[in-house]
Amino acid sequence: MQITRIGDFEVHQVAEYEGPFIAPETFFPDFDRAAVEANPQHPGARLIDRASGNLLFSFHSFVVKTGHHTILIDSCLGNDKERPTRPQFHRLRSSYIADLGRAGVNTEDVDYVMCTHLHWDHVGWNTRLENGRWVPTFPNARYVMGRREFAHWEGVYRNGEDSPHRLAFEDSVLPVVRTGQSVLVDDDYALEDGLWFESAPGHTPGNVVIHARSGGETAVFSGDVIHHPLQLLKPEWSTLACTDPALSRQTRTRLIEEHAERGTRLLPAHFPSPTAGRIMREGTAYTYAFE
Ligand SMILES: [Zn+2]
Repeated sequence: MQITRIGDFEVHQVAEYEGPFIAPETFFPDFDRAAVEANPQHPGARLIDRASGNLLFSFHSFVVKTGHHTILIDSCLGNDKERPTRPQFHRLRSSYIADLGRAGVNTEDVDYVMCTHLHWDHVGWNTRLENGRWVPTFPNARYVMGRREFAHWEGVYRNGEDSPHRLAFEDSVLPVVRTGQSVLVDDDYALEDGLWFESAPGHTPGNVVIHARSGGETAVFSGDVIHHPLQLLKPEWSTLACTDPALSRQTRTRLIEEHAERGTRLLPAHFPSPTAGRIMREGTAYTYAFE
C-alpha cells in the first residue's frame, strides 16, 4: 500500500498483482533487444524479470480522497472473471477488496469510479459476482466513462469479437449501465474536485489521461499511454493491445515530450512500485525517475 499526496488530495495505490506479465517481444511488436542491451541501466531494461524474461508490471487502482469525494481511478482486474486468454488472471481470487479496506475505503464509500479506458484490466472491479450475477461492487458510485470509448466497445460487444475486452464489457461495464450508475461523458470531462480528463486516443479510441490539481500541486494519472518504462527508451513502441498503433505512438510521443518538459508528476497504471515519478530527457530518448 502506497500513499502519496497531491496538495490536499490523499492518493492510495492499491495493487492487485505485481510481477512478471508478458514477454517484451510479444507485447511490443517492434521490440528490439539490441536497444535494451545497449542501455542496461535504463529503468525499462531493469524492469524486465531476469528469470522469466517477461516485463515486470503492476496492476493497480488509485483511490483519490479529495476531502469531498472518494474516487477510484481504474478498477483493475476483478475476481471470478472469465479471462481464458489471460490464464494468469482467469477466475482470479485476489484480496483487492480487503486491501481497499486497509486504505480506509469500504465499497459503499466510493462516490465515483473513473476509468481511463475500458480494457479488461481497468474495469474488473466495477462489478463482483453475487449469487451468479454481476452486480456493481460500489453501490453508491457513479461510474464515469468516456462516451466515445463506450461506443467503441459496445460495437465490439455487438460484433461478438473474441476478445477479453468484449467479455469485460459484458461482465464489468453493462451491469453498471443496467443499474443506472453509468455516466457517459465527453473526453474533456471535469469534476469540480480538481480532476479532469484529457483525450489521449490511440491505445483505445476514447482513451484519456486524468489530471489532478489541489493546493497548487498537480499530477497526471496517465493510464496506458505508457505501459512500461521501456517506452521512454523507445517512445515509438506501441503495444499489441493498442487499437490504433500509429495514433497511440503519436499520442505517447506528444505526452512524453510535454511531461518531460514540464516535469509533471505521473501516476501510470502499470509501472511497478514505487510507480509515481517523472519523465526526464536523456540523450536522444527519455528516462524515468521513480519517487
Ligand atoms: Zn492496462
